[in-house]
Amino acid sequence: MTENKPYRVLLYYMYVPIENPEEFAAQHLQFCKDLGLKGRILVAGEGINGTVSGTIEQTDQYMKTMKEDARFAEMVFKVDEADVHAFKKMHVRPRSELVTLRLEDDIDPNQITGKHLSPKEFFEAMQDDETVVIDARNDYEFDLGHFRGAIRPDIKAFRELPEWIRENKQQFEGKKILTYCTGGIRCEKFSGWLVKEGFEDVGQLHGGIVTYGKDPEVQGKLWDGQCYVFDERISVPVNQTEHVIVGKDYFTGEPCERYVNCANPECNKQIICSEENEHKYLRGCTHECRVHPRNLYVKEHGLTNDQVEERLKEIGEDLTVTQG
Ligand SMILES: [Zn+2]
Repeated sequence: MTENKPYRVLLYYMYVPIENPEEFAAQHLQFCKDLGLKGRILVAGEGINGTVSGTIEQTDQYMKTMKEDARFAEMVFKVDEADVHAFKKMHVRPRSELVTLRLEDDIDPNQITGKHLSPKEFFEAMQDDETVVIDARNDYEFDLGHFRGAIRPDIKAFRELPEWIRENKQQFEGKKILTYCTGGIRCEKFSGWLVKEGFEDVGQLHGGIVTYGKDPEVQGKLWDGQCYVFDERISVPVNQTEHVIVGKDYFTGEPCERYVNCANPECNKQIICSEENEHKYLRGCTHECRVHPRNLYVKEHGLTNDQVEERLKEIGEDLTVTQG
């Protein structure tokens, strides 16, 4: 791996019993802070899931120390180079689950999970006519980029996925199923759940999209768009051989890969939108959001009421707030 940027972003998880997650989280937070890392780590009785950023030295030290702990000796760290930190703060939070699925009957991926496929195996399996590829991520992640031909579950959160699968079962019955997610952690549970649901041939992309994009052989092939990530970078490239833009501007539908949050702090919805349209629509996803009294775009740009009115006029709206 070439290392010419001063920072790194680590992404990792491991399903392994951790006793007393609260205590572990508190100690781990102190350890991370002492190192100078920033990021977000979840700790549960079932394991650890983290993404942190730091200098090469800090991240080296972190990986080394983690691997000295027998529980995490086999941990796989996905490493991205970066120019700066990818987070503002350091959080380590105890949770009841590493990924929120809230199943009646929880899945232990160490007991039941789909076949782990390497990037190359996944690349080949994906091109089989009898195979369906299910994106295990949320709709807004899919919309920025996904494997060519993958199925987009209509879900806003991971916990909605099992119900969505049950409702759309006929699409998958009798087929080979492949699942993928950003780093692989969601698929560990989701593919296990699919197996438990009775689907017989279930494979998951080992190491997730992030690993797939770095694989020297497949080089991210058959990935279109960008990969959404849960840090300040918002997205990372995957396909090293071609760049097909699949993201669409929320307002015009034109090809676009730029995510912003709706300027209404009570909405905060993520929308793909060009810089031009951000200005035009005051970064509001609806009329209500555009004219919301606390619209952050209006505040950031110090717009007067007259200026707001003028902008709205250009898109055929006025300042009236529709009460609903
Ligand atoms: Zn909004």
